[in-house]
Amino acid sequence: MTFLNEFNQWTPERVQQLIDAAGPAQVEQALANEHLRLMDLAALLSPAAEGYLEQLAQRAHRLTQQRFGKTIQLYAPLYLSNLCCNSCLYCGFNADNQMERRTLSLDEVEAEARILHERGFRHIQLLTGEAPGAVENAYLAAAVQKIRPFFSSISIEVYPMDECGYAQMVAAGVDNLTVYQETYERSLYDELHPYGPKRDFDWRLNAAERGGSAGLRSIGIGALLGLSDWRKEGFYVGLHARYLAKHFWRSRINISFPRLRPADGGFKPLAPVSDAALVQLICVMRLLMPDSALVLSTRESASLRDHLLPLGITQISAGSSTSPGGYGQQAESSQQFAIDDDRDAEEICSMLRAQGYDPVFKDWDRAFLDNSNR
Ligand code: SF4
Repeated sequence: MTFLNEFNQWTPERVQQLIDAAGPAQVEQALANEHLRLMDLAALLSPAAEGYLEQLAQRAHRLTQQRFGKTIQLYAPLYLSNLCCNSCLYCGFNADNQMERRTLSLDEVEAEARILHERGFRHIQLLTGEAPGAVENAYLAAAVQKIRPFFSSISIEVYPMDECGYAQMVAAGVDNLTVYQETYERSLYDELHPYGPKRDFDWRLNAAERGGSAGLRSIGIGALLGLSDWRKEGFYVGLHARYLAKHFWRSRINISFPRLRPADGGFKPLAPVSDAALVQLICVMRLLMPDSALVLSTRESASLRDHLLPLGITQISAGSSTSPGGYGQQAESSQQFAIDDDRDAEEICSMLRAQGYDPVFKDWDRAFLDNSNR
């Protein structure tokens, strides 16, 4: 059974009913269970669990320290291109937005990569819009090969590919795939993506699975928080994460919590997510997926990020630019979204050490994979 089959069994109405049916007894039962069932997931995401935030936070904190110790892994995003043929209403790179568009040449990619390498980063995430004819698999593979000497882990957050495309990325040196569903609510997804290849909900939904089949070492998923009800989105992210962990047990599953930020085009969150809701969601995901990396980007403010760390976050970005060529130039050009935490890597490391965490720039090397294949 593919994830799409499982997903289709969980209509929004069915998920809502499960969440609505949860009361204090269901929440307490869920908190007492070592492994969460789907009904526990719904109970902990429900309004009834809001009175148990302290217990949730303590358990999430304990689990995170047991599995990860006091470490936080740092990574940096590198935007390769802001060309895009899609119409995602919430995104600054939306094809309808008038802005300067550019795709970095391979030499420019290398120049940006060198800057990030000099800043200490060894884990990098490459991002692009979707632009057939301009940004293709061959370009991405060439970019990955160009920067491979500088980084021990290369992640992609790009357009969905078929399994051969992901295998091509693995061969080039990519080990990590991130693909957000944006919203798991199909009807809303249709409204938010009026045209372009991204309209194909099912193709996107199965992308993580295709990446797993192609042998990617880690697979990241998430919902763009602020588009739809976060409790239902949290349920679907949990359902998806559980499915991937079961079927691709050799891969690590990463869960991200991107909350909508101001972007060119002026899109406003349709269902704003409060800080308390974000805390609840992060804690629940930690309880559901004790071994998953939980990722928080510079979309969030410095102070909130500092406070969220003990609850289960294990990876954060630092000193980020969200525009192509943004590290080598002084003034930011068109960004995908505005960042809120603009501290550089050194400042983030100082903050982490002050909180008793070890900042980790490298926790993976391709040699591990090469050895395991011998
Ligand atoms: S979210 Fe991605 S696909 Fe959609 S407009 Fe932005 S860059 Fe393009």
